[in-house]
Amino acid sequence: MKDIANLRTSLAELDDLLVTCMRCGMCQSVCPVFKDSMLEGDVARGKLALIDSLAKRMIDSPVEVKDRLEKCLLCGSCEANCPSGVKITDIFIKARAILTGYIGLSPMKKAIFRRTLVHPRLFSGLLSMGSKFQGIMTSQADPFLGTSCSKIMSPLIGDRHFMPLAKRPFRKDYSGMDTGKGTANIRVAFYPGCVVDKMLPQVGHAVIKVLEHHGCGIYLPKNQGCCGIPTLASGDEESFLKLLKHNLKPFSSGNYDVLVTPCATCTSTIKKLWPKMAAKISPEAEKKAERIANRTMDISEFLVKHFDVDLAAQAGKGTTKTVTWHDPCHLKKSIGVSEEPRAILKGLPGYEFVEMNEADTCCGNGGSFNLAHYDTSSRIGGRKRENILATGADVVTTGCPACMMQMTDMLSQGHDHVAVKHVIELYADAL
Ligand code: SF4
Ligand code: SF4
Repeated sequence: MKDIANLRTSLAELDDLLVTCMRCGMCQSVCPVFKDSMLEGDVARGKLALIDSLAKRMIDSPVEVKDRLEKCLLCGSCEANCPSGVKITDIFIKARAILTGYIGLSPMKKAIFRRTLVHPRLFSGLLSMGSKFQGIMTSQADPFLGTSCSKIMSPLIGDRHFMPLAKRPFRKDYSGMDTGKGTANIRVAFYPGCVVDKMLPQVGHAVIKVLEHHGCGIYLPKNQGCCGIPTLASGDEESFLKLLKHNLKPFSSGNYDVLVTPCATCTSTIKKLWPKMAAKISPEAEKKAERIANRTMDISEFLVKHFDVDLAAQAGKGTTKTVTWHDPCHLKKSIGVSEEPRAILKGLPGYEFVEMNEADTCCGNGGSFNLAHYDTSSRIGGRKRENILATGADVVTTGCPACMMQMTDMLSQGHDHVAVKHVIELYADAL
């Protein structure tokens, strides 16, 4: 542990951000974790009060303080509902980094982040190997959703139903792709993100099909790394900055017009966190990250803004199935994208769109939150499942692979006959 004087200095940097909180409690009504526990300590106001008195509390019980701060999905619902504009997510992320700097990273996270994730080739190689041997440790959970479960690993992963690793990662087929400007005279850089690459390659294939259909040139640089959010959410700034430096290289070059991703969390991280964090590397890195952030778009936002989503004329034609939509927090609350995917879904031939109750309520995944607080995560996810089932939809769509994993787990546990798809998969199928 570092000394307490350093801790006090670091916490003083948060004072300007904390002072804007009026303790009004408006964040309480929208917090999914508070709705589950009804504990003030779980809501943003309670956590901000905790941070306010952190230096003193840290001396008494540092691990308890860290645990309470980490009992948060970083969903941004509180920030979106805060009348004072408190930068709650920034504060939580900074506080976690300060705490991790003081307490240190757990040996498990050190091994995953600092020895594996920051080395993209090694990370990909290990997961490729894992995909070959996963059958030894896992068994099929639900054939309709294609999920697995694992009794042997249950002390580590609980009773989760999860999507297996892809036999062939998406980037294996497309890494290094560079097709110039295309007939639409637009060059699109593509950042699939880790989950699409390693677990949902069909989403990456759908993006390629859609971009090619619309005549876009595609630039998919080799050796892309994780966007870094799992490391930053755990307070590991060191690993985040390493990954950021790594990713700045391929995405600062390439002379592309737009960078698209099918992952709401990656999009939000690139747009909002890369520039802020790059400032810690150098002014040049900050400029590069800003240029990348300004050109980054969610795939459905890109489609609707740049092209006529040309399916509308056939909307509902020959309707045989119903489809609903879940708003990922990092898409709607973080970057304000919610109408675009709905516009795509409403124009799909063969589908009728049904709006889900509480469509923009968090699914409860929250990345590492799901690993550390699976019980709470599943109760929040269970409510999402009920809302999905109440629509009677055949397919639930979303725009974030993490939400897809969570909804798949919940629906698989209930052996519900509802398919979980990325919106781009249905759009690609309809072309
Ligand atoms: S809504 Fe904003 S100002 Fe009100 S208590 Fe929550 S963080 Fe503070
Ligand atoms: S980010 Fe989400 S889970 Fe965390 S305090 Fe805010 S509303 Fe609650």
